[in-house]
Amino acid sequence: MRLTIQEVIEATNGELIRGDKKDIVIGVSTDSRSINKNELFIPLIGKKFNGHDFIENAIKLGASAILTSQRIKENKLDYVSVIKVKDTLKALQDLARYYISKFNIIVIGVTGSTGKTSTKDMIYSVLSKKYKVLKNQGNFNNHIGLPLTVFDLKKEHEIAILEMGMSGFDEIDLLANIVKPNIAVITNIGLSHIENLGSQENILNAKMEITNYFDETNTLIVNGDDQLLKNIENNGINFHKYFVGLGTNCNYQAVNINDLGEDGISFDVLIDKKAYPFRLNVPGIHNVYNALYAIAIGKILNVDIKLIYDGIKDFKGSKMRLNILTTNEEIKVINDAYNASPDSMRAAIAVLSKMSKNRRIAVLGDMLEMGEYSTKGHYDVGIEVAKQSVELLITIGEKAKNIAKGAIENGFDKKNIFLCKNNKEAINILKDLLQRKDAVLIKGSRGMRMEEIVEYIQERS
Ligand code: ATP
Ligand code: MG
Repeated sequence: MRLTIQEVIEATNGELIRGDKKDIVIGVSTDSRSINKNELFIPLIGKKFNGHDFIENAIKLGASAILTSQRIKENKLDYVSVIKVKDTLKALQDLARYYISKFNIIVIGVTGSTGKTSTKDMIYSVLSKKYKVLKNQGNFNNHIGLPLTVFDLKKEHEIAILEMGMSGFDEIDLLANIVKPNIAVITNIGLSHIENLGSQENILNAKMEITNYFDETNTLIVNGDDQLLKNIENNGINFHKYFVGLGTNCNYQAVNINDLGEDGISFDVLIDKKAYPFRLNVPGIHNVYNALYAIAIGKILNVDIKLIYDGIKDFKGSKMRLNILTTNEEIKVINDAYNASPDSMRAAIAVLSKMSKNRRIAVLGDMLEMGEYSTKGHYDVGIEVAKQSVELLITIGEKAKNIAKGAIENGFDKKNIFLCKNNKEAINILKDLLQRKDAVLIKGSRGMRMEEIVEYIQERS
């Protein structure tokens, strides 16, 4: 990466306090601990820390230029360029917008309530068979992570796949305004963050902000089985629109789905009335949807169907998302402790129920940030537990008691339910309860830190 100080000044509307406009920075960092030589340090002001306090450290480690929105002592600034801006966060975003505009690449934006990271990684798996592709690492999907990802772009890249997260209105607009996606995916409209947004219609509208900078050349791909997404309008601009899913209304329709449990799934996809076979090596019917976005984009970007097939087959899941581990006692642990929403809970319970094991045990914790939908959201997960092949249910947390209620009222035997206040109580119950060859699903919101239970099960024996 190469940016002149002049370019940084122009992109951020900054003012050069000291230094030479012709100097060059070769990277951008907001973290003074990991900054490299000749990079630009952008100090952000957070709730706990003010990055301006770490300017000296950043310079020690080799930063050659810094942005600042505050007064800093002159004697700290030998040999570095200093650019004054009004707001360092906005400057980071403005600089990312400028930087990405220098590249002639196809930008793919992925948003939706659940499955963004999985879909992004699946699309990467397909497109990287043919193209040089950049994707955001892990979950770098917000107003800071996304701009920072942009600075990883290099000359050789042909495509960038960017996950875009949100918890309220205008957030996707901001991200779309920075990266201007050519192709956008909305995976589904669920209940995540409904506390902030009030209704599913509002969630839909907030996600549709991904098309705010679209013209006729752009493409939107959405879940054609989702009640809200299947009826979306083009809001005045005649961009391309494709639906994927299981319904006959879908342009990319999955048929002949064969769920092979923990071994994965095989399915065919009808494209222009012709059937193409695919094979996923990760479990969960929901991954068929994630694969469909990748297959659609592969087709749109002229990836050979054989390479698309390989990309889907080679996809491996991400950490703490439906990872299946086997312990010394031959207990299968489905580690899905990364996060939880009603949709992903249902998806995970379906995977558990397909495990051919001694007993199937669901350990389910609170789902947070659900506002007034919380009671119903948890209750509905309980209905799913009762419907599927699950023998034992352990709930953790106050809200998760409603999962138990939903299960009991739909036929699940009360004797097979244990209500726990916290992970520790659940671990105590599992100590006596777990038997060889059981299958256990562990899932709850991030704040529940349920990986503690996974660690316990791995370490016993
Ligand atoms: P976050 O908002 O935390 O970034 P995300 O939208 O990136 O989440 P993932 O991390 O891909 O979503 O998946 C979150 C959970 O949802 C995982 O437990 C995963 O197994 C499940 N999941 C993935 N795809 C889908 C889908 N299409 N429908 C329902 N659940 C899904
Ligand atoms: Mg994610």
